[in-house]
Amino acid sequence: MRNRGTGALLILLGMLLIMDMPRYAAAQQDNVAALVAKHRADAIRMREHIHRNPELGNREFNTAELVASHLTALGIEVRTGVAHTGVVGVLKGGRPGPVVAIRADMDALPVTEETVLPFKSTVRTTYLGKEVGVMHACGHDVHTAVQLGVASILADMKADLPGTVKFIFQPAEEGPPPGEEGGADLMVRENVLQNPAPEAIFGLHALPSLEVGTVGYTIGPAMAAVDHFTIKVRGRQAHGARPEEGIDPIVMASEIVLALQTIRSRTLSPLEPSVVTVGIFRGGERFNIIPREVHLEGTVRTYNPEVRDTVERRMNSILEGITGAYDGNFELIYDRGTPSVINDPDLSREMAGYLAGVPGVERVLELPPTMGGEDFAYFANVIPGFFYRLGTTRPGQPSGGLHTPTMTADSGSVAVGMRVMTHLVLEFLNARAPRSNP
Ligand SMILES: [Zn+2]
Ligand SMILES: [Zn+2]
Repeated sequence: MRNRGTGALLILLGMLLIMDMPRYAAAQQDNVAALVAKHRADAIRMREHIHRNPELGNREFNTAELVASHLTALGIEVRTGVAHTGVVGVLKGGRPGPVVAIRADMDALPVTEETVLPFKSTVRTTYLGKEVGVMHACGHDVHTAVQLGVASILADMKADLPGTVKFIFQPAEEGPPPGEEGGADLMVRENVLQNPAPEAIFGLHALPSLEVGTVGYTIGPAMAAVDHFTIKVRGRQAHGARPEEGIDPIVMASEIVLALQTIRSRTLSPLEPSVVTVGIFRGGERFNIIPREVHLEGTVRTYNPEVRDTVERRMNSILEGITGAYDGNFELIYDRGTPSVINDPDLSREMAGYLAGVPGVERVLELPPTMGGEDFAYFANVIPGFFYRLGTTRPGQPSGGLHTPTMTADSGSVAVGMRVMTHLVLEFLNARAPRSNP
């Protein structure tokens, strides 16, 4: 009898433990759904405000002010002026648990907006000596608004939050202006991942090729390393009718552009992801003058650090060989930029597993890696990171691609982003927090 009684008690306890988990999750989901409903209009309003008032990298003064005042009003501890205009908020939950960080970028691009949005940007500024339009053509307005919305939700849940959430609002993701430092790299160097040190970091990016309600993710290598090169090809100036008196940099540069493509096609394995693109070919002043110099500029995208080394080495050989053959010379500046984004495999698998269960998420897609880059890599190189994609397009409302004047993100994506990011944060904290007695 005694034994049977103990056995029954153990079974009952076991059932309670098993039932406890989904019950807690269900209650939490209801709570999050109610809080998304409460805060979504405010987040969308902030998104429209940020979209209408875009600011270039390292110049996000008003955006940073909006972010800091929103976080302060929520009772979140705020640090401003991080890596120039960055803002970092720390929300300490009422229950013990780990620290997790989420990151949003705040900068816009020198693109003149051509959408029909009622909150379209008409802002103009001077960039590299030229007057340009300014636009949130990469969706960073959505990223910032989503993260502000998540802050509102989690601040409301503070008493029950099992751990600490660090909100990182980053400047200059697209790269700082020439001659300046900035972005995730500088944030890391300014100790944004310390005091308190997060155990993991999450980030999202708008993706116009996905519909609102769709979320995409990649496990492991997700986005490429981004390098930037500048080449001066130098010859000797001459009359266009007397080529024998000159050394023609246009002919040399033409051969160089074609030969650079053989790095991809002949030196590297066809199975190794890489891109070599010459984006600028500039030289000459007049039709009948052989110029002295041609300027080439472009980008190299790779995943593997050894491939990166090989590309740089082969570029040098090709430049030496071709300019040497014509008695010209060259100068190559090979600038190693953002490393590749590698989503931590264990963390990504765990987080991807939660995505399908988030209310409002209709489709979850595993996406192949892309050759685009993201400076989220600097955070994910220090602590495990998970960077995923948020669908932003509605059927019947076409959007241009990222970085184009017609890129349009539907406001509905803000609410989906809030739900997804809040759930990931809560799942991460709950899975690692010491279990409290019910
Ligand atoms: Zn971008
Ligand atoms: Zn971006």
